[in-house]
Amino acid sequence: MAKVIDGKAVAAEVIEQVTAASNALEAQTGSRPGLAVVIVGDDPASHVYVSSKSRMAKQCGFKSVQHTLPLETTQAELEALVAQLNEDPQIHGILVQLPLPDHLAADPVIQSIRPEKDVDGLHIVNAGKLMTGDLEGGLISCTPAGAMLFVRQTHGEDLSGLNAVVIGRSNLFGKPMSALLLAANATVTTAHSRTKDLPGVCRNADILVAAVGRPRMVKPDWVKPGATVIDVGINRIDAPERGEGKTRLVGDVAFDECAEVAAVITPVPGGVGPMTIAMLMANTVTAAMRAHGIKPPAF
Ligand code: NAP
Repeated sequence: MAKVIDGKAVAAEVIEQVTAASNALEAQTGSRPGLAVVIVGDDPASHVYVSSKSRMAKQCGFKSVQHTLPLETTQAELEALVAQLNEDPQIHGILVQLPLPDHLAADPVIQSIRPEKDVDGLHIVNAGKLMTGDLEGGLISCTPAGAMLFVRQTHGEDLSGLNAVVIGRSNLFGKPMSALLLAANATVTTAHSRTKDLPGVCRNADILVAAVGRPRMVKPDWVKPGATVIDVGINRIDAPERGEGKTRLVGDVAFDECAEVAAVITPVPGGVGPMTIAMLMANTVTAAMRAHGIKPPAF
């Protein structure tokens, strides 16, 4: 049976480090890290995410500001708010909750955030820094940064000689995850919906990362014995065993069966999920320390 990574415990350690860095910043400069979270419309799931981000920011000792805009907000109004937050010296991190309502275009909004305040790591400057191997100067997308922490805790900083397969090539996860693994010297394959013989490709992986959005797609015979399996997928499925109309969350990996083949595996929920908010806090304190000319700790 594989070792199961406890994402909540690792996230709690990151939050402890972030809080210590935030306190040290305040003691040195009198300024706290400032995080602005912007949400447009009334999507219930987005509101849940935003409240937990704001709550965690307060727990870390940050100045946390939430801007809740009505559904009818225009592109110009949203971009004007981002422009104002860009100029605010008390705000070090800006997060615009995605997805935006259909009438708004996300990309121009994200690209209008100053790269040094882009704590989601989605600005092309931050994506470009990661792709060119500059891991110190930019801000890295939170979920891959969190998944990479698991990889580093399992295999160390240097992945020389290891094969890594990432299933998924999104800008949000797959591409930055592949770049992080490559920067750590792994030999990386980025697989996607057009990949031929996906099970065969996966069987070659010492580190297998699944970020697809298909419940339990990765089967035990796709997993190399002794591999590390990181499951990023979040899928809600029917769970009639829990009662009529009940549902539950599962990942992209058939957990129980794959845990018998892998050496290390992450569960869903409780694996990569809790790391995303923790790394958002880490990016915010990093941005705040840089704004004051102080070298941030490595997370
Ligand atoms: P996405 O943008 O929809 O990308 C999914 C990727 O999976 C695409 O690259 C797609 O390939 C690939 N794919 C789809 N079907 C496939 C198949 N049959 N075989 C192989 N590859 C296939 O999704 P995402 O934003 O990267 O997210 C992926 C999953 O991670 C979702 O379940 C999401 O909820 C979860 N997620 C979790 C967190 C968190 O834990 N906080 C954060 C982000 C994402 P093509 O490019 O060829 O279409």
